[in-house]
Amino acid sequence: YFRLEKLPHMWCPGCGNGIILHCLVKAIDQLCLDQDRTTMVSGIGCAARAAGYLDFDTLHTTHGRALAFATGVKFAKPELNVFVLTGDGDCTAIGGNHFIHAARRNINLTTIVFNNNIYGMTGGQYSPMTPNTCRATTSPYGNLERPFNLANLAIAAGATFVGRATTYHTKLLTDLIIEGYKNNGFSLIEVVTHCPTAFGRHNKMGSSADMLKWQKDHGIPAMRYANLTPGEQADKFAVGILHRGEAPEYTAEYQKLMEKFQGGS
Ligand code: SF4
Repeated sequence: YFRLEKLPHMWCPGCGNGIILHCLVKAIDQLCLDQDRTTMVSGIGCAARAAGYLDFDTLHTTHGRALAFATGVKFAKPELNVFVLTGDGDCTAIGGNHFIHAARRNINLTTIVFNNNIYGMTGGQYSPMTPNTCRATTSPYGNLERPFNLANLAIAAGATFVGRATTYHTKLLTDLIIEGYKNNGFSLIEVVTHCPTAFGRHNKMGSSADMLKWQKDHGIPAMRYANLTPGEQADKFAVGILHRGEAPEYTAEYQKLMEKFQGGS
């Protein structure tokens, strides 16, 4: 159904990004989306490369600005299916402001955050999603900062669909992308992905297989996670649908306003 661009990819051996790309293509295939009415917008970084391997109209934009460009695309052409592919550094540091406002507006974008817990492509610096005490090139003695809980941030800012999966939970990830797309508003799908080169190497997490096993053991289905004690939750995280909300969708509200204005009422 889809043609993947026959480009040599630039991801490291064992990187989780290809798994996310596979789940995205599978979700789009299951949704039977029209390839000519579907577009991918990305920023800069390892995750952002994903848009270039897909045979869609894509925008590979500037660092942190994927959501700003995607907002423009959706605003100009509301009929398009717009997916945003971004990494944790791209989305939550440079693009953090765009993230909270896209969620607040509830604009109909399906945003997939590849969370490898570090800036991979730009040199292994810590990001706002790097766990406390973890090592990076800019935190050789361990990260002092507390990371964002991106799902909670999105919910607080007004997103109407929030889910989380990992590169181990591939069926769940495909289903979350489908559900996120069906939501008429801002959808966040956070994917905890394994990065054996930057994050894994700095933190001695072993091979890709070891990192996938870590995800299996630490990513707990949301219902089960809610029943854990605070002590049991401490080194785990919930996966699955974390939030569904109701709010007017921004582009539709804007069109209604313009019709009212242009009708003179
Ligand atoms: Fe993947 Fe990490 Fe390599 Fe980037 S640095 S391509 S995220 S393994």
